[in-house]
Amino acid sequence: MSESKLISIVIPVFNEEPNLDELVARCVTAGRKTGRSFELILVNDGSSDGSENKIVAASEQYPGQVFGVILNRNYGQHNAVMAGFEASRGDVVVTLDADLQNPPEEIPRLVECIETGYDVVGTVRKNRQDTFFRRISSAVTNKIVQHYTGVMMTDYGCMLRAYRRRIVDAMLDCHERSTFIPILANSFAGNTTEIEVMHEERIQGKSKYDLWKLINLQFDLLTSMSTLPLRLLSVFGVLISAAGFGFGLFLGIMRLIYGSAWAAEGVFTLFAVLFVFIGVQFIGMGLLGEYLGRVYNDVRARPRFFVREKIGDVENDFLQDQ
Ligand code: UDP
Ligand code: MG
Repeated sequence: MSESKLISIVIPVFNEEPNLDELVARCVTAGRKTGRSFELILVNDGSSDGSENKIVAASEQYPGQVFGVILNRNYGQHNAVMAGFEASRGDVVVTLDADLQNPPEEIPRLVECIETGYDVVGTVRKNRQDTFFRRISSAVTNKIVQHYTGVMMTDYGCMLRAYRRRIVDAMLDCHERSTFIPILANSFAGNTTEIEVMHEERIQGKSKYDLWKLINLQFDLLTSMSTLPLRLLSVFGVLISAAGFGFGLFLGIMRLIYGSAWAAEGVFTLFAVLFVFIGVQFIGMGLLGEYLGRVYNDVRARPRFFVREKIGDVENDFLQDQ
């Protein structure tokens, strides 16, 4: 793979004023160290502190290198990164967090790694500095995601990542409103790899994710992968119905053998009938879910397929700019 001409560094910023000076300085140094041209894109995700002024100041200090994208309100980290993607022009796009938990010094390594021929380079946090609860919940999530996407990545939570242009363009072609970028990227990536990076403790400010936002993020992640939960309704319904039917059968047989007093004069039979109908209701909901899932997929309007490259005599200039 040839060397990339331009590297884009995309960073979502939400009330990170105390971190921005150091962040910009370290990112610019790291960008220079890559030996390629680079652009640093700071996306202000509706901060209410002085982040915007800092971004403006940084773009004046490094004209043509640092750019700002100012969103009118808070849209959430992943949407902010998408906004940054849209503004980016690099052949390789690197994302990281603004809170300096992801050391910008790792950027040159990421760039070198992706240039050896990968679509996506993920990272594993070597010495993760987060609470126990956060570590456990991401361990569980990582396992589930591995199962569904079939892509072996150990750490989906870390946003210090590098993506090739074609993957970024494919992600921009997805029209859903809630996304989880690392998973979305992997659904288009052909070959991915991971490298180990350092992880620092948050020094300034506090995490922008409270419990509610984390739960929301988990749902974004789950629904971005599959509509399986909707389908589970039907499965659940079939199980309940079958159990009810079996119970009814059992009661019928016992009654024939032991007489009507055995089944409390038909009270339990009522339960059996009830279970069958409850099950049928769930099957009905599951059917609705099936339609809903299909509508959901269509509304998202993700590209139906993704051509990684074309081989042979195809008139196509995208091979040349790889
Ligand atoms: N962030 C954002 N919008 C939000 C929440 C977070 O742009 O609504 C940014 C935040 O400024 C930071 C990154 O996303 O650059 C990760 O946030 P944080 O460090 O709070 O997450 P954690 O490290 O706790 O996962
Ligand atoms: Mg953080």
